[in-house]
Amino acid sequence: MRSILTLNAGSSSLKFALFGLTDVHHGQLIGGQIAADGSGGARFLVRDCAGGVLADRRYAVPGAVIDADRAIEILLAWLSTAVPKLDLSAVGHRVVHGGAEFSRPVALDDGVVAALTRLARLAPLHQPFNLKGIAAARAAFPGVPQIACFDTAFHAGHAFEQAAFGLPRAYYEDGIRRYGFHGLSYDYVARQLARIAPAVAEERVVIAHLGNGASLCAVRSGRSVASTMGFSALDGLVMGTRCGGIDPGVLLYLMAEKGMDAAALTDLLYRQSGLKGLSGLSHDMRALEASAAPQAAEAIACFIARIRREIGAMAAAMGGIDALVFTGGIGENSARIRAEVAAGFDWLGLAIDPARNTDDSVELSAPSSRVRVFRIPTDEDAMIARHVAGLMAAAAADLVPLDQVKWAA
Ligand code: ADP
Repeated sequence: MRSILTLNAGSSSLKFALFGLTDVHHGQLIGGQIAADGSGGARFLVRDCAGGVLADRRYAVPGAVIDADRAIEILLAWLSTAVPKLDLSAVGHRVVHGGAEFSRPVALDDGVVAALTRLARLAPLHQPFNLKGIAAARAAFPGVPQIACFDTAFHAGHAFEQAAFGLPRAYYEDGIRRYGFHGLSYDYVARQLARIAPAVAEERVVIAHLGNGASLCAVRSGRSVASTMGFSALDGLVMGTRCGGIDPGVLLYLMAEKGMDAAALTDLLYRQSGLKGLSGLSHDMRALEASAAPQAAEAIACFIARIRREIGAMAAAMGGIDALVFTGGIGENSARIRAEVAAGFDWLGLAIDPARNTDDSVELSAPSSRVRVFRIPTDEDAMIARHVAGLMAAAAADLVPLDQVKWAA
């Protein structure tokens, strides 16, 4: 079967999936990931669409983090033996930063790769790994179209007042502006909401993507209006290891008084902060929820407080809120976090039904709640596959090369 391979190469994991070209909406054929196994090694796990395990292997890795090149090598070697009749129509890549230049999925060539490489400094935790996945797939599948799908693209329509920092205008023109991230997730979840509750999806919706990375997005009629993430994936919420929004005066102080340079600040803000830094225990919400240490409870309290504050900000950007949607590893799985976030919005007429919150319901709102609350699992791989299939279909219909496809507005 003609298929689409999606690759999501991150700093600590490589996720991948295969989709049928003509039935991307039916979900993945197979999918899996290579990630830390929690005991110092890496685990390569692949499942078919019914949940059956196709591969489950462990690898010893130095430093408990698998190198992206090695992860891709393992995946490609497995694909060549386990799926010998692989007939790829295209490879879709998750790319975190598209900058001001890329606001739609784009076919990759040397020029686009060079432009994305220039943006790597803006997303040091992600973009270099995305680019490794792109390089490996271009080498492994020559002649197969490679499509980049951007986390920033969903937010490309933000108004100037949402995108601009209060800096001299020249900085905005130079690309120093708020972009927003997690766009593939928001795009997918907004489309799911439109299927589940079409009327409310047209109204003022706040989507909370709460995972290792975390952000909020204000969405109206399926379009992003504002987001808590900005120029980089550091701004906004407290995350697993990232600080979230911070007074820039802190950075000036650390540079001037503590002699910290860009490399030291990058490590501090991206890797040592957030839940990990606040708790001194773990970046992982499951571990913090299970811990009796007061530092774990305090870290969770900071996480919750910032989410509540920023939900207020997102609602204000739309003049109100009609629905709140939880997604991401924490948003989908932690009834405690959802309940604590919601408890801050009694005054807004938002109430979660405790029973619905603890089973696997899609709608969590209490019958009395004016604001409807949902739990919608995200699927960034499916969103990539849909974008790629759309681009392929448009190219086929117009009989033009992929990179010249004109997109409808
Ligand atoms: P990423 O941003 O890397 O894709 P995920 O969306 O997978 O991350 O989210 C990972 C986070 O979700 C971790 O903090 C993990 O502890 C948390 N998580 C997953 N399952 C649960 C659960 N059942 N309860 C609480 N937190 C959970």
